[in-house]
Amino acid sequence: MFYFRTVSVNPPLPERISRLRELSYNLWFSWHNPARELFKEINHQLWERVEHNPVKFLLQVRQADLERAAADGEFLQKYDAVMAEYDCYMSQEKWFQQKYPQHRDKVIAYFSAEFGLHESCPIYSGGLGVLAGDHTKSASDLGMPFVGVGLLYKHGYFYQRINRSGWQEAYYPDINFNELPMTPVVGASGLDTTVSLELPGRNVFARLWEIKVGLSRLILLDTDLPLNMEEDRKITGRLYGGGREMRITQEMLLGVGGVRALRALGITPFVWHINEGHAAFLNLERLREMVSEGISAATAREAIRANTIFTTHTPVPAGHDVFDRHLAEKYLKGLCRDTGLDCDAFMDLGWDAENNEFNMTLLAMRMAAFCNGVSKLHGEVTRQMFHRFYPGIPVEEVPVTSVTNGVHTRSWIAEEWKNVFSRYLGAGWVEQVTDEAMWQRVDEIPDREIWDTHRILKDRAIKYVREKVKERRRRNHEPEGLIMEADDIMLPHALTIGFARRFATYKRATLLFSDPDRLAAMLNNLDRPVQIIFAGKAHPNDRAGQELIKKILDYSREEPFRGKIVFLENFDINAARHLVHGVDIWLNNPRWPMEASGTSGMKAAMNGVLHCSVLDGWWPEAYNGQNGFAIGHPGNLHLNEEDQDLDDSYYLYKVLEEKVIPLYYERRDGLPFRWINIIRNALRTIIPRFSSARMLKEYTEKLYIPAINRGIAFMESNFSEAERACRFKRFMQENWHHVKVERTETNGRWDMQAGEELTVESVVKLGPISPEEVVVEIAFGNDRGPYLSDLNTIVMELKERVGDGLYRYAGRLPLCQGTYGYTVRVRPSYRFLADKFELPLVRWAENF
Ligand SMILES: *Cc1c(COP(=O)(O)O)cnc(C)c1O
Repeated sequence: MFYFRTVSVNPPLPERISRLRELSYNLWFSWHNPARELFKEINHQLWERVEHNPVKFLLQVRQADLERAAADGEFLQKYDAVMAEYDCYMSQEKWFQQKYPQHRDKVIAYFSAEFGLHESCPIYSGGLGVLAGDHTKSASDLGMPFVGVGLLYKHGYFYQRINRSGWQEAYYPDINFNELPMTPVVGASGLDTTVSLELPGRNVFARLWEIKVGLSRLILLDTDLPLNMEEDRKITGRLYGGGREMRITQEMLLGVGGVRALRALGITPFVWHINEGHAAFLNLERLREMVSEGISAATAREAIRANTIFTTHTPVPAGHDVFDRHLAEKYLKGLCRDTGLDCDAFMDLGWDAENNEFNMTLLAMRMAAFCNGVSKLHGEVTRQMFHRFYPGIPVEEVPVTSVTNGVHTRSWIAEEWKNVFSRYLGAGWVEQVTDEAMWQRVDEIPDREIWDTHRILKDRAIKYVREKVKERRRRNHEPEGLIMEADDIMLPHALTIGFARRFATYKRATLLFSDPDRLAAMLNNLDRPVQIIFAGKAHPNDRAGQELIKKILDYSREEPFRGKIVFLENFDINAARHLVHGVDIWLNNPRWPMEASGTSGMKAAMNGVLHCSVLDGWWPEAYNGQNGFAIGHPGNLHLNEEDQDLDDSYYLYKVLEEKVIPLYYERRDGLPFRWINIIRNALRTIIPRFSSARMLKEYTEKLYIPAINRGIAFMESNFSEAERACRFKRFMQENWHHVKVERTETNGRWDMQAGEELTVESVVKLGPISPEEVVVEIAFGNDRGPYLSDLNTIVMELKERVGDGLYRYAGRLPLCQGTYGYTVRVRPSYRFLADKFELPLVRWAENF
């Protein structure tokens, strides 16, 4: 190795079209087709060769092409129109600015290990990253003061090739950042802005890069600097590469380095959003900062919690990011020393005593007043999973909420559909995408137009798949016959199923092969042919996932599956776009309830590609019987995975054979009119509710705004509110053992009349706790099972101070028809508790 510096030299842009450079450096182009068309028009072949990356395009384009464009009146007209739209987008008042003018500059910082923005920046592995990218894009659309923080991986996630034997091979490209739509952050001195971080035995430096995503900024850290030791230059080498030690190093960089990056840029966030546990170390850095300013650790902890949001995506305990004690101590020692805390107390912040490990999810959860799952079902599953940390509290009241994922409609809806929507809904549909009433007008789109639009996209997808398969066979030196055959695989009129996502085993890519003969019969029915496109990467350490790929490849080469089952290699955003635009059915059959949300089915449905899915993740919220297909029933309980797979494959074949295939082939005037109606239902019901615009609005109203307000209140007047909250919590914890519901009397009998009123009176012992610090309430709900569920509460009134720490409370419960259980409970109450069980204390009446 030797030292060098880099300079990017672009051809000078003709003055008249000089803003193409600005355009190329804002990811706005990635969801604005006319902007991309400009580059394409200048030189179509080059545009394809540089994989739709405008920065690389401008580095390579010939001067003559630019001159020609600058002299072409028609081109200039389009150019001016695009630039006007760009300026309008960048300067227009948007939803957040109009709704929350007082908060328009209060930065929301969003930390994520991966961001999926565009195929040219391969710093994502799958749904989590694409979600983060869509979150960033929608934040811009809504005019939110948003900054993303992530890592810039030199080799990204890997590039997948399938070799001649059908095994996945992982390639790690050397990404040249200077050819990507990002710029190094340069300080006032003209030098790169860097931050440093202490790791065991050395300091590591990271340079900062910035990506503009409309109005949002994305700050990425990069350790590939000559200043660092050779080993440390590789920290930002590969996404999810290396072992546990590499992982903790990357996470330190993201969490601790990320906070420092924001500070170096003079950005002061009012909300800190942790997207999955990977980024949870940011809490520890904030703790260090506050303690070094002289704030006590306990108070600082309350202040940090106040404006921290944690979004979890993991539905199973085994999926959480954990480190053993030795590794965690080794890496946290430096921070711990700087905070002056004793190391055990520091470790406790993320320690899982039950499993003896340091758990990033726990670290995030304990230091975030706001915690959410990513679909309603996943919220439930998460409350269940975290219940062990809330003893005595009903599982439904565990303070974890949910915000269901969504996708960036401007990025994921095909241009052809956008045009149809503009015609029937009006050009403003883009800005009003969450307006459900507007989407009713989808009913006005004629059958013929829906089907033609779909067919154009389907033809394009099939062409794309054929080209890719041909390319792979050629590269693998397969026989010439096989290479040529790729031109004919996939029949344009056959029902085409798409299955494409990460090949994690719980997603069960090969469930369809449970009964190969039955599948073969389905695919080879000459009157009603079916074909399937598979795509997806398995993590390089996931042998089981790679075996699934190999299995599919093996089938795809044998009769009777040849030409009817294909595997498309290197699934990325571009491949995803082609598939979700152009297959007929999007298949999703994860093992329930392991899919926290899933988003690819949303992308498909928004393009009229019908979702056929297990009722897991987001699908139970969307499925209404007429806007797609369900595999099996909700919440089938199984004793073991084998039974579950067997059951689900039964329902999978059943729905395909009895519903999907007959409906698709039922034609009137050559059109599958019933199918088209389902498409219409899907567009109408799914686009407004599963757009990331809806998701961002929900995050804002449910979480960001409360966090901003809470954060400000907690830090005001020198953290006095945080200190009060901290004292309150400690006092309650120390004295809660005094609390007891001593006696309860009611007029309740075993059977009562609707319209009667139940009166409840309790004598409650609070000891040194004052009645202002608690709520005494009647809790009532369904008494099926050992606990009450679907709880409701009615606050009881303080009637008498009996003395000696005893108080008499009374309440009334009007009775409606039905059977329910009721009881009395006491819980802490404080105006700044983020949730009634933020302090997990409760006392239930024992008997009455
Ligand atoms: C949307 C998307 C995903 C998410 O797929 P799920 O089936 O929802 O898990 C994964 N990879 C890419 C490239 C995507 O665009």
